[in-house]
Amino acid sequence: AAQTLDQIVSLCKRRGFIFPGSEIYGGLQGTFDYGPLGVELKNNLKRLWWQHNVYDRDDMEGLDSAILMNRWVWYYSGHEDTFVDPLVDCKLCKGRFRADKLQEASCLKHPKLHPGECEGELTEPRPFNMMFKTQVGPVPDPESFAYLRPETAQGIFINFKNVLDSTGRKLPFGVAQIGKAFRNEVTPRNFVFRTREFEQMEIEYFCRPGEDEAIHEAFIKDHLEWWIKVCGLSPDRLSLYEVPPHELAHYSKRTVDIMYRYPIGTEELEGIANRTDFDLGSHTRDQDKLQITAKVKKNEHSTERLTYFDQASNRHIVPYVIEPSAGVDRGVLAILCEAYDEERLDNGETRVVLRLKPALAPIKVAVLPLKKNEPQIVETAKRIKRMLQEAGEFRTVYDDTAGIGKLYRRQDEIGTPFCVTVDFDTIGRAEDNGLKDTVTVRDRDTMKQERVPIKELYNYIRERIMP
Ligand code: ATP
Repeated sequence: AAQTLDQIVSLCKRRGFIFPGSEIYGGLQGTFDYGPLGVELKNNLKRLWWQHNVYDRDDMEGLDSAILMNRWVWYYSGHEDTFVDPLVDCKLCKGRFRADKLQEASCLKHPKLHPGECEGELTEPRPFNMMFKTQVGPVPDPESFAYLRPETAQGIFINFKNVLDSTGRKLPFGVAQIGKAFRNEVTPRNFVFRTREFEQMEIEYFCRPGEDEAIHEAFIKDHLEWWIKVCGLSPDRLSLYEVPPHELAHYSKRTVDIMYRYPIGTEELEGIANRTDFDLGSHTRDQDKLQITAKVKKNEHSTERLTYFDQASNRHIVPYVIEPSAGVDRGVLAILCEAYDEERLDNGETRVVLRLKPALAPIKVAVLPLKKNEPQIVETAKRIKRMLQEAGEFRTVYDDTAGIGKLYRRQDEIGTPFCVTVDFDTIGRAEDNGLKDTVTVRDRDTMKQERVPIKELYNYIRERIMP
């Protein structure tokens, strides 16, 4: 695994995983752009998550709701008044910090010093709302604004009735969504760990009160296992954090965070909360006709009853919600940190290798000609590359821009699980040794090579990259 975040930052920039946002204009703090390899890795992560949480279950639906929503969503969700960070200013250096995360901050004028060590005095904390605002429509009227969503969750709650009515689901069932979220973080830091624009993979799982605790437990176990089995994170670097009562969000009955030991420290990767009936209870009309247990704002704007008719008890109930909420970017970062390895070879050299799970690797196969000035070898290699590419299932590349040793190193560094090499045996030019129409397949992790007939190549690779 990576020892420092710098190892990952530099690999990401060098090989095209992740770039600082708006770099040519001096950057925009808290934003990053995913490059040619980063977008593949991120898409693979999201696809595997969707596969596990939607396709592999019988009780889930998907959703893709709008980023811009009616302002009342954020009033009744509580974000307008509680989605705040305590902000302090340093009177000396004018640096701004989160009062609860002083250890993460360093002064702008005194970059080596933590604010506590800077001679400057800190102001009293004041609340700072982290939602970005944007104008809606052409008239700059102070009321015609919307927030960029700071979480994807609310889009699910406000569509509860739509999903229920259009699918005819019975409790318990869940709705999954992956999408962008925006938070005006006071101190975006640590590469893609804390940014102002990021992606979330969230589930709102609706159930009957009373079932909530067991379902909560099951998600904690299932998702922890998923990060290990599917994403390859080491159990030693993962832990569960039982959020203590005084740190719980106002809507939460219980929250357990899945923590990962990044090179920067052990930090939250995914939060799994029991939100009770707070969300549907907040956004429903007719609140006083329903037995809502959570403390909610009196809703005077909602036009829908967000309830479920329970045939067993013959009454309308407001479902409880279990919410697993994971950061895509924090997932990508954990996966990269975990997979990174600098391996000392017998010849004294060091090779950098990303030991990614094959299903996550941006490129699955690199087809390499042993000699680039042998037309028959080049032809055959290109034909094999097209054959794999046309099967349409995995990203395949062809590369002949360096000697074979260097080509292997390049693929190791970006985590390509298989390199296929076309040599003289493949084209039947060596002595008749029975190796005509076979290629070598080199395994990234062991560097072992196996001879595989071209006609079996597709299946050989396919079997090995399935999650
Ligand atoms: P933190 O305490 O680290 O700020 P949080 O508790 O505010 O995180 P949640 O509101 O629970 O985070 O959001 C759910 C998930 O979204 C987090 O587990 C994390 O993976 C991701 N996330 C939240 N804020 C950011 C951010 N600024 N940058 C990247 N990912 C984020």
